Amino acid sequence: METISIIGGGIAGLALAACLDSARFDVTVYEKRPALPAVGNALGMWPNAQRALARLGILAEARAVSPVIGTGSVRNAQGEPWVSVSAGQMFAISRVDLLRLLDGAVPGTVRRITTNVRSLPADGSLVVGADGVHSTVRREVWGAATRARLTPYLALRGTLPAPVSPGDVGEYWGRGDLFGMAAARGGSFWYASYRSGLGPYGIDAGSVLEQARERYAAHAPAIRRTLAAATPEACLVQRLWTVPNPGSYVRGRTVLIGDAAHAMLPTLGRGACESLVDAAALADLLNTLPEHQALRAYDRQRWLRTRVLSLASSALGRVALAEGAQPFRDRLLNLGRRRNGRAAVVSGSAG
Ligand SMILES: Cc1cc2nc3c(=O)[nH]c(=O)nc-3n(C[C@H](O)[C@H](O)[C@H](O)COP(=O)(O)OP(=O)(O)OC[C@H]3O[C@@H](n4cnc5c(N)ncnc54)[C@H](O)[C@@H]3O)c2cc1C
Repeated sequence: METISIIGGGIAGLALAACLDSARFDVTVYEKRPALPAVGNALGMWPNAQRALARLGILAEARAVSPVIGTGSVRNAQGEPWVSVSAGQMFAISRVDLLRLLDGAVPGTVRRITTNVRSLPADGSLVVGADGVHSTVRREVWGAATRARLTPYLALRGTLPAPVSPGDVGEYWGRGDLFGMAAARGGSFWYASYRSGLGPYGIDAGSVLEQARERYAAHAPAIRRTLAAATPEACLVQRLWTVPNPGSYVRGRTVLIGDAAHAMLPTLGRGACESLVDAAALADLLNTLPEHQALRAYDRQRWLRTRVLSLASSALGRVALAEGAQPFRDRLLNLGRRRNGRAAVVSGSAG
């Protein structure tokens, strides 16, 4: 049997392990986390990710535990809608549920090793870097120039047991900050992002929550209510990082998938979706083609699309988090609203 070592058992690594042909491949997943995480925020599943979940045989279960996103608005900081976005059949799955379902889809024949991989396995296997934004595999094989880049932004996210009012769902763009809220399983989830010099590691959620309450004190009442109800225990905080273009996702017999290949700003909500698609695409190619052809085809299928999405996420991030250009951005968006007499309606369900 051909051997495959998957470094990282997150969304991308587990999805790949679940899709590989167990009659053909001897697969080992190396994951440093001893258990699945117990807290995590909601991830919007775009149609391409839903197709990948269907390929994995877990779409129905994923839908059953996830509310549909429905319609939300992009608004100014005071909550006045500029654009109304219909998310079609997109749903928001909790990261905890997604990882649990992926984990359950991995066949028992896959070997699981709990370890923090510091150097690549030298057993002649095909090595898959599914080890996230700070990928050891990328650093070892592609070199230090592809080290993750720290962005100036911080992301604070949380869940609440109370549902969000449908009239408040959406994203609020202020001066150098954004805030979002939507339905989640058992209540609602929210996120905030703005420039911050904190960190980059070990940031205290309680202090950031206090900072956010001050920062958003003059924003829409729905934001203030959400932050007042939020607790540090139900919050995650981190600085945001991105991965520079490594040129190709394949080098010899090493291949990158998920955030290890293309960690991007979360503004489009595509990172986890594209990680699932990477995994399904790579598995289907490896299952049917000789290895070198499969790797070349994977790079062709996935590199350009994910680079474009990465650039688009950064561009949208600059607009949503605009600081100096915020008055100009708001004037333009207000103009669009005045012309229509109401918020423009956009369908966000393509792709
Ligand atoms: C604030 C925020 C909001 C987001 N919102 C969305 C959204 O709405 N929709 C969406 O699609 N995406 C979203 N994303 C992106 C999404 O979280 C990532 O794209 C996704 O988690 C990538 O999955 P992955 O498996 O590639 O990497 P990860 O989830 O990072 O998993 C990597 C795994 O590898 C393990 N690992 C790392 N190094 C080693 C090592 N040396 N040895 C062994 N194991 C190792 C880690 O423990 C981890 O389990 C968001 C991201 C952020 C930061």
